[in-house]
Amino acid sequence: MDRTSRAAGTVIGSAVGDALGAPFEFGPAGVFGGRFPVAGAGGEMCGGGGWDPGEATDDTQMAVHVAESLLERGRLDLPDIYDRFRRWAAADPKDIGLQTEAVLGSGLPWDLAAETHFATSGRAAGNGSLMRAAPSAVHFARAGRAATMDAARRIAALTHGDRAAWEGTAILHELIRVALDGGDPVAALPDTLAAVHPDHRARYATVLADGWHPDDATENNGAVWPCLGSAVWALRTTGSYEDAVRAAIDLGGDTDTVAAVTGALAGAVYGIDAVPHRWTAPLHVPLPGSVPGRVLRLPELLDLARRLTDGPR
Ligand SMILES: [Mg+2]
Repeated sequence: MDRTSRAAGTVIGSAVGDALGAPFEFGPAGVFGGRFPVAGAGGEMCGGGGWDPGEATDDTQMAVHVAESLLERGRLDLPDIYDRFRRWAAADPKDIGLQTEAVLGSGLPWDLAAETHFATSGRAAGNGSLMRAAPSAVHFARAGRAATMDAARRIAALTHGDRAAWEGTAILHELIRVALDGGDPVAALPDTLAAVHPDHRARYATVLADGWHPDDATENNGAVWPCLGSAVWALRTTGSYEDAVRAAIDLGGDTDTVAAVTGALAGAVYGIDAVPHRWTAPLHVPLPGSVPGRVLRLPELLDLARRLTDGPR
């Protein structure tokens, strides 16, 4: 399988997970599997909870804004990404994370807003920087591990002042980088953990350990640690893109984001051909903050993924 297929699998696999999980957000475990007990039977991209079938949520919308900044600027331009986020938040998206909303609506400059929010609230370890990681992971992969993890941390820090969120996002970027190279992200966990900031290594080692189960989590999966741990668990305990994403959604809770993170990882491992056509066909990404009414569908997302693989200019 070539890199183009894995990159498309990462970007579109994440968007599909987001859209597939959205109707089940904040529900209990097992609802998705109860409604769709047989994998491959169809009808799963069902919509609900205010979402149309195939409609991607804030996770993918923010990811596309990151992607378009990287492609148009040709480099990591943090003020530009922040500005796109701010315009998006001001354009009344259907959903936005509490922490992200507080930071982007603060009126503070890009390099102070998240830090200031964290200093006053003490709470900034949500999964909101994990959920939008697929495009930047693809874009920086060719630059190697250190550059990949550094870019991840900086993009995360735009909205999340807690270093725990930066480190989790850096781990996800690195696991995707390994998969894009044809490697096994689960086998790469020890090396990846060694590159995590020492203050945060033990907590990630716990949720990424073989044998950790999402039921072992000490926070709900809207937090960065169990969200990442659950995605790696879903990848580790299944054998296909479809089964990994089904397992992620069936955990309940923050289903769109856990499935978006799982879908990015599983899409990188299994490639775009493993993402069912019946899920990619209805996929669409409204893009508040862009040209009014603009909606991206599969051809535009495939083009985005292909261009992102070229890396920074
Ligand atoms: Mg969402």
